[in-house]
Amino acid sequence: MAKYKTVNPATGETVREFTTLDDAGVESALSRAHRGYLHWRTTPAEERARILGRTADLYAEREDELARMIALEMGKPVREAKGEVKLSSAIYRYYADNGPALLEAERLDVPGADESVVYRRPIGALVGVMPWNYPYYQVARFAAPNLMLGNTVLLKHAPNCPQSALLMEEIFRQAGLPEDAYINVFATNEQIADMIADPRVQGVSLTGSERAGTSVAETAGRNLKKVVLELGGSDVFVVLDTDDMDATVKTATRARLSNAGQACNSPKRFIVTEPNYDEFVSKLAESFKATPTGDPLDAKTVLGPLSSQSAADSLIEQIEDAVAKGATLLAGGKKIDGPGSYVEPTLLVDVTPEMRAYSEELFGPVGVVYKVATADEAVELANSSSYGLSGSVWSTDLDGAREVADRLDVGMAFVNEHGTTLPGLPFGGVKRSGVGRELGPWGMDEFVNKKLVRVS
Ligand code: NAP
Repeated sequence: MAKYKTVNPATGETVREFTTLDDAGVESALSRAHRGYLHWRTTPAEERARILGRTADLYAEREDELARMIALEMGKPVREAKGEVKLSSAIYRYYADNGPALLEAERLDVPGADESVVYRRPIGALVGVMPWNYPYYQVARFAAPNLMLGNTVLLKHAPNCPQSALLMEEIFRQAGLPEDAYINVFATNEQIADMIADPRVQGVSLTGSERAGTSVAETAGRNLKKVVLELGGSDVFVVLDTDDMDATVKTATRARLSNAGQACNSPKRFIVTEPNYDEFVSKLAESFKATPTGDPLDAKTVLGPLSSQSAADSLIEQIEDAVAKGATLLAGGKKIDGPGSYVEPTLLVDVTPEMRAYSEELFGPVGVVYKVATADEAVELANSSSYGLSGSVWSTDLDGAREVADRLDVGMAFVNEHGTTLPGLPFGGVKRSGVGRELGPWGMDEFVNKKLVRVS
């Protein structure tokens, strides 16, 4: 059975299948990526930046085609898919515009020699392992800064978006990137482990689940390879007070249900102070119930299917576990009848620690609301999670909100907005949400040799 295949999640139909690499294909990819590195590292930074700029242009020019492909492969409504293509284009543009300056040598004022200089040099071929939930954006976050640095990339994408993966490779070629600088590999996980262990590979970046991160990091650790891990989250949306509940609920709905709830940094836990709780919960339940589901290829659709039938089944199991142990359903809770992997927007309250929904990531259109008496209690509940990706705090008192944001154990905290992602802002988490940062200057600071040259 083919591992890499396009299955339309709106209908369940298998559209296209692809063959996995054989052993000779793995060896060829490794030797090409290494050879490619020896050439690409010597290409002037301005030329590397020019190619990334052209890549950004091509994402903009081919936006419709790119958006329709991910709508077909993983069910993202085209409206949102176009947003993802724009963001990906902006990331390539950011590194094209800022890359050469970020690579400038740093002269240190240290006595005892004529000069001490730190140069930022590439380290070699890297393996990227990416998920299906933002097929272009996740790759851009990893590939753009590393290609700018002079590293080369072997990219293993999720098995359910092979055609999006091939489109990205094609765009790099069209932009003028040498063929061996970015190589798409339809590989098994065992082949990925072999690639990570190979001396021609210097590091691995994985965006995906905690389970995948643990496995890849183990292989990397045994082989002393650098890792960046962008993993799951159970992010909080803390409402301390608000002077516009309708606007707060509208943002909460959009943040939770976009991409059918399948975003690492989507607010999965809403933590609301007592005076605001009843109004927030009843308005959020109404808003969830009113969200229209439909075919992702229809421009009017807001909520599409989950990426696969198995993703929908796992989410339903988590909901049923909570309800069986006493949680209350205020909206949704079931699969939607008919073909496709649709789940109703679902809202749960009365969730307690013995339920899976309390501690596990809910990767779909499901929100949980908790009531707290004080801001301290909100912080304690927020930080009780094993995850630490991002969180937002909502209040009219900016100083108070800033202080609460500072106490959240997360990589990204926001006040009166949730989950803003821009090319110049760092992205990443702490605790079991991962290791390292992507985007901005930080994204070019991971797989780099900060090389000292001292001349006396
Ligand atoms: P996943 O099952 O972990 O898969 C992600 C990628 O890892 C896929 O390409 C998968 O390929 C690969 N993979 C899994 N196990 C592997 C192994 N042992 N060796 C090599 N590759 C392996 O995750 P997903 O279900 O696609 O994505 C959802 C998860 O990603 C959620 O937890 C979400 O929060 C997280 N995520 C995090 C971020 C972030 O920036 N922090 C962003 C987006 C998503 P196979 O399917 O072939 O195994």
